[in-house]
Amino acid sequence: MIPTQGYAALSPNAMLTPYSFERRELGPEDVLIEILYCGVCHSDIHQVRDEWGGAQFPMVPGHEIVGRVVRTGPEAKKHNPGDIVGVGCMVDSCQNCEMCYRRMEQYCESSCSFTYNSTEQDKKTPTQGGYAKHIVTKEHFVLKIPSNLPLSGVAPLLCAGVTTYSPLRHWNVRFGQKVAVVGLGGLGHMAVKLACAMGAEVTVFSNTANKAEDARRMGARHFVISKDEDGIRARLGYFDLVLDTVSAQHDLNPFLEMLRVDGTMVLVGAPPNSSPLPAFSLINGRKNLTGSLIGGITETQEMLDFCGKHGITADVEVIPANKINEAYERTLRSDVRYRFVIDCSTI
Ligand code: NAP
Ligand code: ZN
Repeated sequence: MIPTQGYAALSPNAMLTPYSFERRELGPEDVLIEILYCGVCHSDIHQVRDEWGGAQFPMVPGHEIVGRVVRTGPEAKKHNPGDIVGVGCMVDSCQNCEMCYRRMEQYCESSCSFTYNSTEQDKKTPTQGGYAKHIVTKEHFVLKIPSNLPLSGVAPLLCAGVTTYSPLRHWNVRFGQKVAVVGLGGLGHMAVKLACAMGAEVTVFSNTANKAEDARRMGARHFVISKDEDGIRARLGYFDLVLDTVSAQHDLNPFLEMLRVDGTMVLVGAPPNSSPLPAFSLINGRKNLTGSLIGGITETQEMLDFCGKHGITADVEVIPANKINEAYERTLRSDVRYRFVIDCSTI
């Protein structure tokens, strides 16, 4: 076993504290990575607080990992010691079902292994995430990082980036389309940058008025306060796609009303509580309401290459690991511009 250190929650709602644990010895296709940076996703907070149910403790969160390869197993061919690589929300899947063959490992029919708060494919061994100095991961789930991007800003691409890239691609966002992004946080700000790079006209809906200037700097054409009834009325039937990244329960209906006929609203935000949905919000205009979970590994690599080509990274505030509990509190107050990233050399 390979000893390492990280930050863990020992029970639901506990503060994160320094934690020593072990990574497995390298299997034939494994890669040992020294973690340089790990982003702080709102999903980490939902899980540490057991808001989705079924959380396992101790829990080392973190699924936006960038690091350097230290060693590889004898059959690993994709990565070499010294390479800068990434690990996102998944570390394994069955590799033998229709979804895995179609490169959508996130929908693996026998459940993928998430990076933490999950189990390895033996369905027993708990997985632990990236608020740590090292991780051992099967090379299929290890991504190559474009060499031209600052690494702290790359880390959030591994979850926030692919979670927004995947639905933008799946629903074929292209030049001139009208896209609304709801919530300007970690996911939301990536959605704005990516949709703009795909040529869309982007409108941000936010509850935080002082994010307007940032939204425009990121490329958004319009910024509307989510509860501004005039702003909503002016856009009824307007959007091709609404991407909802909000982390808390909220009213979906105004956004459905702003879709054009046959338009699509995609939920990527994952609030623990449900929102009411009157049938007429969908019936009138044949609207589509759907959701999307992260993205497959091939698609994650495509997203990283797209970001390399377009010079896209997250706006980050780099913190030492001992500021993690404060970062959670600030994220909950929407006081983050726009992603906290842990400098893992401080662990
Ligand atoms: P975040 O950085 O905290 O951003 C969430 C944003 O939602 C906030 O910045 C805020 O934006 C808005 N918001 C927060 N509370 C609100 C409320 N009560 N009412 C209305 N708006 C509110 O979180 P994140 O890391 O981007 O994650 C967002 C959500 O996506 C989380 O639920 C997370 O678990 C989920 N997620 C899903 C996937 C997936 O695969 N589907 C992957 C990753 C994360 P404004 O200040 O602009 O209003
Ligand atoms: Zn995430």
